[in-house]
Formats: sequence, structure tokens, C-alpha cells
Amino acid sequence: MEYKLALGLEVHLHLKTAKKMFCGCDADIYGKEPNTHVCPTCLGLPGALPVPNFDAVKMTQLLGLGLNCTLNNNSHFDRKHYFYPDLPKGYQISQYKQPLCENGFLILDSGEKIEIERVHLEEDTAKSFHEGGKTLIDFNKSGMPLVEIVTRPVFKTVVDAVAFSKKIQDIVRVLKVSDADMEKGQMRLEANISLRTSEMESKKILPDYKVEIKNINSFRFMEKAVESEIKRQSEVLASGKKIKQENRGFDEKSGKTLSQRDKEEAHDYRYFPDPDIPPMEFDQTYLLGINTSLPQLPYQLKETLKTTYKLSEKNSISLTNGLGLLCVNLFMRVVESGGDSERTANLLLNRPETRDLTTEQIIKLLTGVSNKIKDTELEIITNEVIAKNDDAVKEFKTGKMGSLEFLIGQVMKNAKGKADPVIVRKMLTDILSK
Ligand code: ZN
Ligand code: MN
Repeated sequence: MEYKLALGLEVHLHLKTAKKMFCGCDADIYGKEPNTHVCPTCLGLPGALPVPNFDAVKMTQLLGLGLNCTLNNNSHFDRKHYFYPDLPKGYQISQYKQPLCENGFLILDSGEKIEIERVHLEEDTAKSFHEGGKTLIDFNKSGMPLVEIVTRPVFKTVVDAVAFSKKIQDIVRVLKVSDADMEKGQMRLEANISLRTSEMESKKILPDYKVEIKNINSFRFMEKAVESEIKRQSEVLASGKKIKQENRGFDEKSGKTLSQRDKEEAHDYRYFPDPDIPPMEFDQTYLLGINTSLPQLPYQLKETLKTTYKLSEKNSISLTNGLGLLCVNLFMRVVESGGDSERTANLLLNRPETRDLTTEQIIKLLTGVSNKIKDTELEIITNEVIAKNDDAVKEFKTGKMGSLEFLIGQVMKNAKGKADPVIVRKMLTDILSK
């Protein structure tokens, strides 16, 4: 029996505010001495009162709009109760009944539409370290503004789940609401995984359980964890047993997921509105103001590249994902100054070193290329120069970079200026490092 994957994602992101979520502590906590960015509020001391950070609220709403959500006119914070050493209050301030944003979606480059259930705002917990039989806690992260994006269980492959997460990373960076650096813990993923039969999939029936993989801190990690979980669950189902609803963590060493604790149902958290924080109400003028401050997002930019700049689907995708976004503005300027769209895109995408050039230099490079000498001819000249300059070649191999510049100069001279120095440099290093 072949089972089908049903996967839902929760993406947690640290917002790029100056202060923490409910206190005046500096939010630049990365790489700082433990327990140096703390106060009675984020330490959860009795009597300390939370004051919401309005910048974090606005950033969450901006992100919600970017993810095609509806912004709620009325919203409030709830207490989510659970006991854990890194949560000294015994509850986390989060949102349950009235999140800031609901019912959004994002369309992947594959055309798959990913439905987003909600985008809400909460506070992060502290961080525990387990060392030599002791547990140490760093409270710098406690009370950091944390936005949570929850999708519906619509992912059928882990490839789409990774593509979605990468798009979220690009979007929050374009919006300047988060740096989303996974190594710094600014972006963390959780995957809810269950399996079902193809019949259930076609009838859109969800399985009656889900297994949550917590704290996924890299895309590779997510791929491995999901694959191992599909294997484990298939085996349990094939043996005729039921799968337990629980939280599992991925163990890098064994490449398997391990049981952590039984998964709570919403009612286990005893959510109720936080009585220390008044409910929020947003008027139309304010919400429209957020709408007008929304910049062009990668998925909109992709359409612009296709229609206005007549760029192919493939290159439009490359220029509006990940590193491509770093040179998309330069691409538009070059094309506006007369550069051919496809050739400009290929140049910027394939040769990263050209991204530091000016518009004029790129145009020159593009128009010059056609009357340049052929690569085969250039290779002959390059090999001749290498053969004639033994000393420079030996020096290069001992690490003297100056001799490479000398060799490039020789090739350029012999090619009578018709060669492209960037290509010459690559050709020489390729041949010499063989
Ligand atoms: Zn604080
Ligand atoms: Mn959460």
C-alpha cells in the first residue's frame, strides 16, 4: 500500500524590532553574553507587566498582507499555558481566537497554491542548554517578538514545503521584517506530518492524527526528518497499527525521529485572553496605510519581469528567488538602458562577479561579446601563454596571485584585446588547477 503525505507547516520568525515584544529590552540578542538582555518582564518575575511593542504588531500585519491574508479589525493576546523550565511564567503570551491575520495563501513557482490559516504574534521562550548533567538557561531570547505562520495541511511533498519556506524567507527579507537567519535561530520550522490513502487524498479527508516535528533549523534537516517520518509511519500503518499523536524530534546521528512527548490538543493549553493587555482595534485608515506601505514582493516582481521585461519564465523565477533577488534591480536598470533581457539575466545569474559592475559596464560587456573571439581560439592562446611562461605558472601554483594577473595580461595582449578578462581569468584558473 502506497501512502500519501499530508503536511502542514508552522514557520516561526524573529521580528526585526529594536526592542523585545513586551518590555524595553534591546532585541539585538545574537551572539551576546547569556542573560545580559533581560528585565523583570522577560524574566517572568511576579508583578511585572507586559506592554505590547507596536512595531511588532505593524510588521506582523505587513507580513500578513504580503501573504494575502485578511487583517482582523479586532485582535487580542491570549495566554497559552504549559510548564517548561524555559517559560518561567507558566504561560506564553500568544494569539488564539483573534490572530492579527487570517486566511492567506502563497503560490509556489510550481503553480501549487499553499493556503495559510493564520499569521499571529507571540513572545519567544528562553533557551535551555544541557551540559554535564545540568540544565542552564539563557533568558536573552525570552520575550523576543515571534511571528508564527501556520499553513493548512496542504503540502503533498517535502519539496514544496522547502520551496514555501524559502519563499517566506525571501518575502520577510524584502519586507525588512526579519533577517530569517536559520543558523541564528531567527527562523524555525515545525512540520505536522500524517499519511493517508490516495482515496482519502482525492476526497480531501485528513487522517485522524498528526505527528509534529519540532524545531527544524535547516532545509536539509526538514527533508531528512520528513523522509524518515514517512518511512516510519508507513511501516506502522502497514503493520495494521495506529499512529500515536505526539511530538517528535529529529536525531541527526541516527537519521531518525524520536518521540518527545504526547502532543497537546488546543484545550490542554487553557487559552484565555491575557487580562494584562487590552484588546486591539484597528481602523480602516490605519489598515489602508499599511497596504500602501507594501513594497513589490518577489511573486509580483516575477510577473512584472515576464510581462514588462519580456523575460522567460525560467529566468523570471531565478531572478526573484534567493540570491537572484540581490541583482533583480540591476537587471531592470540594464534592460531599461537598452540591454537585451534574456542575455542580461543570463549574465547576472551565471557570473556573480558582474553584479558589482555599473549599468554602463554591463551594457558594454553585452554588446562587446558578439565581436569577441571564439572560446576555442581563446583556449589555444591561453595554452600558448601557459607554455611560454613556466615561471609565472610555477609561482601561481605556490599561491602567488600576482602571477595570475600577469598571465591574464599576456592572454589579453595576444588576443589583441578581443577577449573578455572575466572569461580569461576563469579559463586560466580552470586549466592551471587541473
Ligand atoms: Zn525584558
Ligand atoms: Mn508558536
